[in-house]
Amino acid sequence: MCGITGFAGKNAPQMALKCLEKLEYRGYDSSGLSGFDNGNLFVFKAVGKIDNLKQKLTNKNLDSKIAIAHTRWATHGKVSIENAHPHLSQDGNVCLVHNGIIENFVEMKKMLKNKTLNSQTDTEVFANFLAEKTKESKDLKNFLSNFKTALDEIKGSYSFGIIVKSFGEKIFFAKKKSPLTIGIGSSFCAISSDINSFEKSTKKVVALCDGDYGYIENNTYKIFHNKQKVKRKETPFFAVEKELTKGKYQTFMEKEINEEE
Ligand code: GLU
Repeated sequence: MCGITGFAGKNAPQMALKCLEKLEYRGYDSSGLSGFDNGNLFVFKAVGKIDNLKQKLTNKNLDSKIAIAHTRWATHGKVSIENAHPHLSQDGNVCLVHNGIIENFVEMKKMLKNKTLNSQTDTEVFANFLAEKTKESKDLKNFLSNFKTALDEIKGSYSFGIIVKSFGEKIFFAKKKSPLTIGIGSSFCAISSDINSFEKSTKKVVALCDGDYGYIENNTYKIFHNKQKVKRKETPFFAVEKELTKGKYQTFMEKEINEEE
């Protein structure tokens, strides 16, 4: 288990970090954050608690309209800076966070031209695999088609948050057997492993289905399934939040008993 998030909107690095703190229960051996600022991709990582990452970001004045972040619970490779997410492809175009296990990463690695990677993770293999599969993508439509082809090669589980340098201020996502939800506000759009981690100002949430992929950008999103654009149900956030919090009660049991009456 680990936690991923992505934020598209004002103060994206700060907002992604806030969300990440609420995901810390999902993994806490290391963490990291990436953003995209004026054509520059930045990546910060720290071993240990998210506080260590926060310290690294202090006084950095990061200005970026998109950010992805990760709190790790290692499955492949020890706890180290190199193995912490986000992972950047060697061509510098694809930067991603991942929750799950890529079971066929050894086979996938064999297909890569440059087999010397920086980490021992299954995730870094896929970052490079995706960069390879999408490097000729001429436009967004073409990229999304190649993205889906790359996803189809994965045996295992994933939720991804991905920045692609050549597609600027979008965060691509995909989900299969790992949780991922979209949160929409009036001036932002976010993704997260857990609905509970969304900002209070979130207006609507969309639960993604296995096999869904797409992107968020500003306060909008697009979802695709089997290369077709699809619509998923939007639920008002307050309704979901009401379900997920104890409200005025001390325990969930107390809440359940009272709400039944
Ligand atoms: N397999 C990835 C890693 O070891 C993600 C771990 C996870 O989802 O917990 O870095």
